[in-house]
Amino acid sequence: MAEHYTGVKYSIPDGALERKTVFTVENKAQIRAMKKAGKELSERGLAQGTTGNLSVRTGSKFIITATASDLSRLSDEDFVVVEGFDAESNTLTKAAGLKEPSSETPMHDLVYKTRKDVNAIIHVHDRLLVSEDAIRKLKLPVTEAENAYGTKELAQAVAGLLAKGNAAVAKGHGIVVAGKSIGECTESLVTLRRRAP
Ligand SMILES: [Zn+2]
Repeated sequence: MAEHYTGVKYSIPDGALERKTVFTVENKAQIRAMKKAGKELSERGLAQGTTGNLSVRTGSKFIITATASDLSRLSDEDFVVVEGFDAESNTLTKAAGLKEPSSETPMHDLVYKTRKDVNAIIHVHDRLLVSEDAIRKLKLPVTEAENAYGTKELAQAVAGLLAKGNAAVAKGHGIVVAGKSIGECTESLVTLRRRAP
């Protein structure tokens, strides 16, 4: 990986993040599906340590894993509901959760804004799937530059590629898949990994 993780890069103004649990009746089913996906990705070697993030769209909001969550053992506190994010200024404007939302929230937000048919997104740092050989064999679109994680530039580059398909590689960084459900995204990743050289 090109760069060491040093925390979120987007802004969180005072009061934008309401510190409360989001493991509520309305979110329970989605959160359970996300926990299951995280576990499956880890078991299949697609998610390592505290890298990677998952999200699911719920109406005008989305639920995303918290920053530095371990996908193999996600707990009820590891989820944040994002209600408002300003892509232009890279600022979180309204969210609820006990932790900060993933450092890649700008990317998830922009993909949801670009692709109205997408309801779930998974991003993992799989070394095999970002390799030159895999990119060539699987014909994966890849960003032109190695944009730093958590930046507006990375969000724009990935959302641009995902406007035309459901998988994209962030050069030297990781893979992002989008789909109708978190289950579908997990399936896509597992399939890509199986077909990788
Ligand atoms: Zn990443």
